[in-house]
Amino acid sequence: MKVGAVGLNYYTGYKSPNIKSNKVNLLTKPDIVSFRGILSSEPDLSTKFRYGLEALDGQSVMVVTSNEDSSDAMLEFYADKIDIPIMKKYTLQVKGDGLSEANQLRTNFAIYKKNGSYWLLSLADNRLSGILVANPKEKFDAKKTVYTGEKKELKNGDAIQTSDAFYGRDDNLIFNKPKRYDISDAERYLKVNIVGNYNELNKKTVAALNKKAGPSNIKKGFFFSDIGGLDNIIETLKKYVIAPINYPKVFENIRLNKGILLWGPPRCGKTLLGKALANESGAKYREYNANEFKTAQVGSSEAAIREVFKKAIADAPSITFIDEIDSIAKIRDGSSNARFDDPMVNQLLGCMSDLEKSKVPAFFIAATNRKDLLEPALIASGRFGLHLEVPMPDENGLKQIFNIHSKDKPIAKDVSVDLLVQKMLENQFNGSDVAEIISDAYFNALERLGMFEKMNNKSFLYGDMQKIFISFADFEKAIQRIAKQKI
Ligand code: ATP
Repeated sequence: MKVGAVGLNYYTGYKSPNIKSNKVNLLTKPDIVSFRGILSSEPDLSTKFRYGLEALDGQSVMVVTSNEDSSDAMLEFYADKIDIPIMKKYTLQVKGDGLSEANQLRTNFAIYKKNGSYWLLSLADNRLSGILVANPKEKFDAKKTVYTGEKKELKNGDAIQTSDAFYGRDDNLIFNKPKRYDISDAERYLKVNIVGNYNELNKKTVAALNKKAGPSNIKKGFFFSDIGGLDNIIETLKKYVIAPINYPKVFENIRLNKGILLWGPPRCGKTLLGKALANESGAKYREYNANEFKTAQVGSSEAAIREVFKKAIADAPSITFIDEIDSIAKIRDGSSNARFDDPMVNQLLGCMSDLEKSKVPAFFIAATNRKDLLEPALIASGRFGLHLEVPMPDENGLKQIFNIHSKDKPIAKDVSVDLLVQKMLENQFNGSDVAEIISDAYFNALERLGMFEKMNNKSFLYGDMQKIFISFADFEKAIQRIAKQKI
């Protein structure tokens, strides 16, 4: 994208709206200021802005600000103008991001999405101004200005004139739908705050978002605290993987277990462990299903395996998770030296041996439900030599998993978790079943409270969310359904 660097461009007549007395004087017509700024590094502000737009859903808001404190205060002030329940806030801070001091964006605004269209809310502070929403190809028209605290639906192709900083002269249309942006990048580039309580009023939710500001709230994916009942495994992984990644000198002359086998019944948290391990250690994470390596073409399966190791080593510290390892590393019936016939097993053995000899902190985690089928040479020490069983959750595990997944859900106070856990234990629930009953119970609650009916006849209001609570009977019904499915 080309970005223009052209001085400052003022439309004059500035008078500030009076917000100090909690009143906004919309009759005083504020001036309109448009900026052109210098954007240097990639991804530039415009790109970040688009990531933010892409990430917006019906429960998130993006605040574009040069001064976070004042814009947070303004967002709170105007929170009741945003008629969707806000759970997540993305903040794009313009100041210091390649813009020179004089050219900073000074108008704060928020954008959210409702029924598929974008809404702009002006959060002007007492220094300026309004936001002009206009197609930049048209002549300037003050009537199109959104004044302090006003909101306006944005059409595809609309541009925010005050934020000339976001685009160059050749790339004016900021509301073209982003094409090649990955939503997860929004969380990488923008500050993210999350609130997770459906019971909160919107105004309170926005206030909570603002209070929780700080990088500690930025949560990407899973962490150990999201995993229930597997504390022993987590402790082992901290010792064998996280400590060597964080303090490499301590382990310099020690042979590390770079191949780890997680084995146990399906849906009990193996993949979760791999992801959390990567997040906790900050290592680069890649995940494969071993079936992906199987191809009919001679030699290309081995090449695929070599490629995976090459990438893992290049990106070290890294964690590579290979699910269903049994699909390519099966022992062959009745033949003691079967491994020597199987090129994929041979390739894996070779790559693991090379990795073991190297000093690179590239860890491989293989997962299987059928340890008994695995080629013994592959799970010998020096290869996938550290074996950790990920079992079905016991009573305590079920309780922990339940508490993790129900954390932000509106659960009635009289629901006995112990009783629910007993029922789950009787029905041999795995971790995934626990997550599922919580969602299912929520649906049961919506049904019982007539919310679906309201949604069907379009009388549902977001304010109705405050009436939603999940009862014991909702959970029981969910347990019954899932237990029946398991038979
Ligand atoms: P498979 O063997 O089928 O690949 P898996 O053991 O890798 O399964 P996961 O994919 O980690 O299982 O778990 C599936 C989902 O179930 C998780 O995303 C999570 O929602 C839930 N879950 C499973 N185990 C746990 C656990 N111990 N703690 C919290 N959630 C869990």
